Amino acid sequence: MQKVVVIVGAGPSGLATAACLSAHSIPHVILEKEDIYASLWKKRAYDRLKLHLAKEFCSLPFKPLSPDSPTYIPKDMFVNYLDEYVSTFNIQPQYHRSVESAWYDEVDGKWRIDAKNMQSGDVEVYVAEFLVIASGENSAKYIPELPGLGTFKGEIIHSNEYKSGAKYENMDVLVVGCGNSGMEISYDLSNFGAHTSIVIRNPFHVVSKEMVRLGMIFYKYIPLFVVDFLIVLMSKMVYGDLSKYGIRRPKKGPFFLKETTGRAPVIDVGTVHKIKSKEIKVVPAISSIYGKKVLFEDGGEREFDAIVFATGYRSIANNWLKDFKYVLNENGMPKTDFPHHWKGEKNLYCCGLSRRGLFGVSMDAKAIADDIKRVISEKMEK
Ligand SMILES: Cc1cc2nc3c(=O)[nH]c(=O)nc-3n(C[C@H](O)[C@H](O)[C@H](O)COP(=O)(O)OP(=O)(O)OC[C@H]3O[C@@H](n4cnc5c(N)ncnc54)[C@H](O)[C@@H]3O)c2cc1C
Repeated sequence: MQKVVVIVGAGPSGLATAACLSAHSIPHVILEKEDIYASLWKKRAYDRLKLHLAKEFCSLPFKPLSPDSPTYIPKDMFVNYLDEYVSTFNIQPQYHRSVESAWYDEVDGKWRIDAKNMQSGDVEVYVAEFLVIASGENSAKYIPELPGLGTFKGEIIHSNEYKSGAKYENMDVLVVGCGNSGMEISYDLSNFGAHTSIVIRNPFHVVSKEMVRLGMIFYKYIPLFVVDFLIVLMSKMVYGDLSKYGIRRPKKGPFFLKETTGRAPVIDVGTVHKIKSKEIKVVPAISSIYGKKVLFEDGGEREFDAIVFATGYRSIANNWLKDFKYVLNENGMPKTDFPHHWKGEKNLYCCGLSRRGLFGVSMDAKAIADDIKRVISEKMEK
């Protein structure tokens, strides 16, 4: 099938890119392996999730989130917004199409994309002038290989399968990972009466949503190091010294770390209070697991009924994209730094891989559609 633009993935990135291409009247197709768009938000997000960033940083192009909606939008409300987005811009992804391989054909200067039709099992071949990777930073869950993990007698889940703590009441649950998901899932488990412990190994910043919002506003007007100074000051005033609870603050500031490494600060939803009051226990790194017993690096050990791995995700675009070198590195992430990360060679683009959440998605989608428009116009002029 001959196409002008093929977009891989119908998450917010794919949808935003489609809307921006439509605004330029550029024909395109979205290939999505699942049976719905925004599968992460509809199938793989926990119930109590609210957007971490204020609504002014989370809307997609051409459709601001309603001024009547809360500042921090609950997941279901964001899903409704995406439903409206899809119907407003008449976006029609091709579902059950898992892109298994894509490569650049130097002979005719086009991309060849093989998509497996998950219903029929057939492989469909698409040929496109432009290819947009919108398959997400979170396309594959990551669980670390821990000695003895296979012997664990309780339940093991990844955070993308976690919905709520309802079924864990009175159970001993260990959460591995202290990013935003791990900290929020611990809070949720504890609220539902689970005896919750969380593994905390690495230093991280704890901030509130309001601090992040302020920081993002400040950053428009003042240098990053000043923003970091102010945010860390506020964090110290609100949360105090958390090192006695096992939470150490990194030497570098929260916005600097986000900008340079993609590591986000933890936005506290109430977990810190529960850690201080010992409702949630902090434990060190796991050294090994045997049966229901988990052994920790400080020599301690405890039995658990379940382990929730909130250990993150990986982009695996470089598994299916054979010629990933034109835009991605070996880790499936852009090889060029922000703000030039979205554009590769040979009409290859990536949307939503800048670790800037929905804010970054919108910026990328607009830039990509504008660039494709420019390339097409220049070609027509010749
Ligand atoms: C728990 C959680 C909470 C988050 N909260 C926020 C937040 O509050 N604010 C924020 O800005 N960001 C948040 N994020 C980040 C969020 O992932 C992004 O903002 C947003 O979903 C990125 O959209 P995307 O389209 O790039 O990726 P995704 O939403 O991951 O969509 C990618 C799509 O591509 C499809 N796909 C993947 N591989 C293939 C393939 N080979 N063939 C066909 N289709 C494929 C997938 O099925 C998926 O539908 C959160 C992420 C998680 C995991």
